[in-house]
Amino acid sequence: MALGIRAQDTEEFDAFIELSREIGSDILKTQGAGGNTSWKRDGLMWVKASGTWLAHACERDIMVPVRVDPLVAALRDHDPRAEKAVDFIVDDLNSSGLRPSIETSFHAALPQAVVAHYHCVNTIALSVLQDRDAVIAGRMARVPDLTWATIPYRRPGTPLAHEIDRFAASRPDVLILYNHGILVTGDTAEQVRQRIRLITEALAVPERGTDAADFDGLTALAEGSDFHPAEDAGSHKTALSLDNVAIATSGSLYPDHVVFLGAEIGVLAEGQAVRDYVAGRRSQGSAVPKMLLAPGQGVLLANELTAGGRVMARCLAEVVGRIPDAVSPVYLNAAQEYELTHWEAEQYRQALDRKASQRA
Ligand SMILES: [Zn+2]
Repeated sequence: MALGIRAQDTEEFDAFIELSREIGSDILKTQGAGGNTSWKRDGLMWVKASGTWLAHACERDIMVPVRVDPLVAALRDHDPRAEKAVDFIVDDLNSSGLRPSIETSFHAALPQAVVAHYHCVNTIALSVLQDRDAVIAGRMARVPDLTWATIPYRRPGTPLAHEIDRFAASRPDVLILYNHGILVTGDTAEQVRQRIRLITEALAVPERGTDAADFDGLTALAEGSDFHPAEDAGSHKTALSLDNVAIATSGSLYPDHVVFLGAEIGVLAEGQAVRDYVAGRRSQGSAVPKMLLAPGQGVLLANELTAGGRVMARCLAEVVGRIPDAVSPVYLNAAQEYELTHWEAEQYRQALDRKASQRA
């Protein structure tokens, strides 16, 4: 069903919605509210609403209609209204009443009818390597029919949109966003689906093997604390290899990790109970990280974490396991971490996430 759409071509809109659901249902592509898709027709663009999950595209009204030309003009004029894009919403058609994605302006800048942006764990793992230019060029040589470019790290929102806009006129099929994810474009949802299939194969990275998590041991460590072992078995991999632990705890690799889990991950000493760790942090006047690693045993998450935060723990496990051993990745710097945690648009996205968790 074409939720909220009044456009003529509902068949193509439905195909776009189905593509959005598919991208949102693959944990290696989308985690929680990350990623966003858009569809343009007759000067309007339907783009995923901020804070909503692509996985819910078929069951909920998650697309917000915005006017493309004035939004692109605002972006190019450095008009601050381009950042949240709320002034470009077509209110009459906006049945959900939500705000458009914080990444709306780059969707508008690209001329293709269908744009899919997602946080592919393979792309993130390759795009944080020191020699990423050469590595990615080698991978993209496997898909010679696709045009592509790389985009340096910028904060999501207009800083990133300005970088992407520089490539809009050349209509790239694929953009690799360093320390962030990927963008795949096309004239139809089906064309984008085919391109995603090709690019997913070209960028696939084998994962480092790990042992299973020690749930009983983790439960014992968490006793009497406000933490619990991660429910999702895949999330524990971050703590189940010393290489993974080292990569995860040496810096932040991509924006959604910082936004949902913060810039610091805690590491328990061998056999250290969480409540002792927390007491130690508090006595030093330090904040307690939302995610703790018990090396060799698994991952503990703060009970206060939202569904969006919990799934980000899984994302990290998938990314760090795909970064080769002994390679020091390119991390976000302190200023980049700071701007992610002090940003009104992100606070809105997290507030929606908290609301959704309370309902669940
Ligand atoms: Zn993104």
